[in-house]
Amino acid sequence: MQLTNIIRIKINGFLILLLVISLISNNIFSQNNDEYKIKTVVIDAGHGGKDPGAVCKIGYEKDIVLSIALKLGEYIKENLKDVKVIYTRDTDVFVELHKRAKIANTNKADLFISLHANANESQKPYGSETFVMGLSKTSSNLAVAKKENAVVLKEDDYQAQYDGFDPNSIEGNIIFSLYQNMFLSQSLDFSGRVQTQFRERVGRHDRGVKQANFLVLWKTTMPSVLVEVGFISNPKEAKFLFSEQGQDYIASAIFRAFRDYKESFEKNNKQTYTAITQVAVPNDSVKEKQKETFYSIQLLSSSKQITINNKNFPGLTEVFEKEELGMYKYYCYTITNYKEIKNLQNNVNINFKGAFIVGFDHGKKISAIEVKKKLKN
Ligand SMILES: [Zn+2]
Repeated sequence: MQLTNIIRIKINGFLILLLVISLISNNIFSQNNDEYKIKTVVIDAGHGGKDPGAVCKIGYEKDIVLSIALKLGEYIKENLKDVKVIYTRDTDVFVELHKRAKIANTNKADLFISLHANANESQKPYGSETFVMGLSKTSSNLAVAKKENAVVLKEDDYQAQYDGFDPNSIEGNIIFSLYQNMFLSQSLDFSGRVQTQFRERVGRHDRGVKQANFLVLWKTTMPSVLVEVGFISNPKEAKFLFSEQGQDYIASAIFRAFRDYKESFEKNNKQTYTAITQVAVPNDSVKEKQKETFYSIQLLSSSKQITINNKNFPGLTEVFEKEELGMYKYYCYTITNYKEIKNLQNNVNINFKGAFIVGFDHGKKISAIEVKKKLKN
């Protein structure tokens, strides 16, 4: 065999080897994608121990939600063998809110479900509602969040654990949604399924999917929801919720919602995976808003362009870039309320020390004071 032929065979062999390596690595890559499945769910029975939660004549919120949590866990274990179920509590014990989130985070849960029952001064309100993190749009949503958050007053050292949060102040409840923003669409998806099951299969009055700031959801790093299964202050609903059958129905409804969510999520896992990793890209509504007058937060400026993604801008979903005199500047938020942007700034400063409030008016950068004058806000 001629030397040139040997070399050619070697080169061909090398190319085949490269091809094989690239096929293997492609395969590894797609396996990684396949692994993006719903594998772990954390079920959080609200309250417990010294904290009874809502109280009515026939019993405590903490008992109803524990029973539903355990039933839900059993349904999942029985029917979805590939899912690991973790409880934040499976007995009548007190668990601090921040520890509940920590349990979910350290176990790398794919979904966090916090279970609660509601109560009102009036006996009239009834029905089920599911919350995701976000600004309370109505005073009644805020009231639910304040009530569920108030438990931190029973915790030792709560101000250190929750960055000085005071559950009795309205300001304290304004903005904690920053961390959860990137999971909003998945949290909303699951919430919608829970409410549909409640309404269509268990005949509960559907109070809808809502947003409010719950401390227990604040620092979870996965899609998270808080389910208010019903009002124990309403005698008829209380009777249902304290009954074995009622709790069974509620648990099976949440199970079916979970099963459907898992199935849909895994079918679309490629798209979802992409959505998670690229969520920080500014969307059209952000660009649209840039025409108006608003406050924003300048995060940093750089001589080099920085990719807008979750790695570079963790937890921020409204980041946009502007080139100014050869420097790339990165901003976050388009807000028209000073109090709100001030709160956001405090949160942003955790990762971006020195981030400061600026203003924009029809695309032109102006000072925060000028925005204040223009918006009178
Ligand atoms: Zn509760």
